[in-house]
Amino acid sequence: MALANAPYMDELKAAACEVIERGRYLHSTQTELLEQEIAALCQTRHCVSVSNGLDALRLILRAYKELGIMRDGDEVIVPANTYVASVLAVSDNGLVPVLCDVREDTMNLDSGLLEALITPRTRAIMPVHLYGTPCWDNMLVQVARDHDLRIIEDNAQAIGARSAIAGFNGTFITGGLGDAAGISFYPTKNLGALGDGGAVFTNDDELAATVRALANYGSDRRYHNIYQGYNCRLDEIQAAMLRVKLRYLDQENKTRNAVARAYSQAINNPHVKTPVIFEDMEQIWHQYVVRVESRDDFRAYLADNGVGTDIHYATPAHKQPCYINLEHGALPVTERLADEVVSLPIAHPITPDDAHAIAEIINRY
Ligand SMILES: *Cc1c(COP(=O)(O)O)cnc(C)c1O
Repeated sequence: MALANAPYMDELKAAACEVIERGRYLHSTQTELLEQEIAALCQTRHCVSVSNGLDALRLILRAYKELGIMRDGDEVIVPANTYVASVLAVSDNGLVPVLCDVREDTMNLDSGLLEALITPRTRAIMPVHLYGTPCWDNMLVQVARDHDLRIIEDNAQAIGARSAIAGFNGTFITGGLGDAAGISFYPTKNLGALGDGGAVFTNDDELAATVRALANYGSDRRYHNIYQGYNCRLDEIQAAMLRVKLRYLDQENKTRNAVARAYSQAINNPHVKTPVIFEDMEQIWHQYVVRVESRDDFRAYLADNGVGTDIHYATPAHKQPCYINLEHGALPVTERLADEVVSLPIAHPITPDDAHAIAEIINRY
């Protein structure tokens, strides 16, 4: 992580100093400007900065409950192949996560399976743009329209990605496609803070106001509480750090894209399945995830050759101890992915040349 921020060190220090010297640490110009800048990036009318990505998603669902759109026990469809936080946001609100299997090619929610999962209690679908690949297609939109479901994007891994088809609002950038979206500024995300942070995006004025109130003790104005809320604020120092890094996001995403293309072009080993590059959308490559049946052996071989890898994610939510009682149907693709996925190095300071060198090592496996 220190490496990830090395290119911006001087600017980050200067921006932090400015906030410290100014002496306003919450709810001031840095958070306001950050909200305006990332709302412009995601092309939404509203952005509410919050404490982290999980809280962003929790607040959206809680706001829908306060607005009478969801009730305890209502169901939200979530892809089974995701980080557990997507599922936690649903169950935390007294809502029921209904797990949907994913597609082999996108590794994202398979919209062809949605219709069979819908019940009279279904209220929303939460597509996750996992690994930076947009999850948005005609079938998803059609099912949501037919059943009057909200679409809440988990955009934690895909800020700045562009989908192949337009969202509800006619725009293409993830985070602005559905009814609302949550994002994470966890340090390793493409736009990472120097600590925790997150944001909610929406074009819905009422939802934005409700989320903003809920994140600030449930108050709509000072010392006036309309909800039993939380404290989920982003602070000025993190907002200032994020505003520095936002200026380089596009450039960093372009480098990741070049690294991904270098890997895909150079990896040529029948044991290693590379991820699909979709030319009709813009993936931002939060992770570059290959599939290998002999995963442990492959990772040990790479480690021996100085290449560090990771797994996103080895244990899907429905196999976690905390969800032992969660009912779900068959999830064969998710379970196969959990056994086979390996994330190759892609974040700064990895370059396309590094990717070629790593691909050569992989090809000798
Ligand atoms: C990181 C992440 C989250 C949670 O964000 P935090 O800021 O860590 O709370 C939620 N969903 C997905 C898909 C993520 O990758």
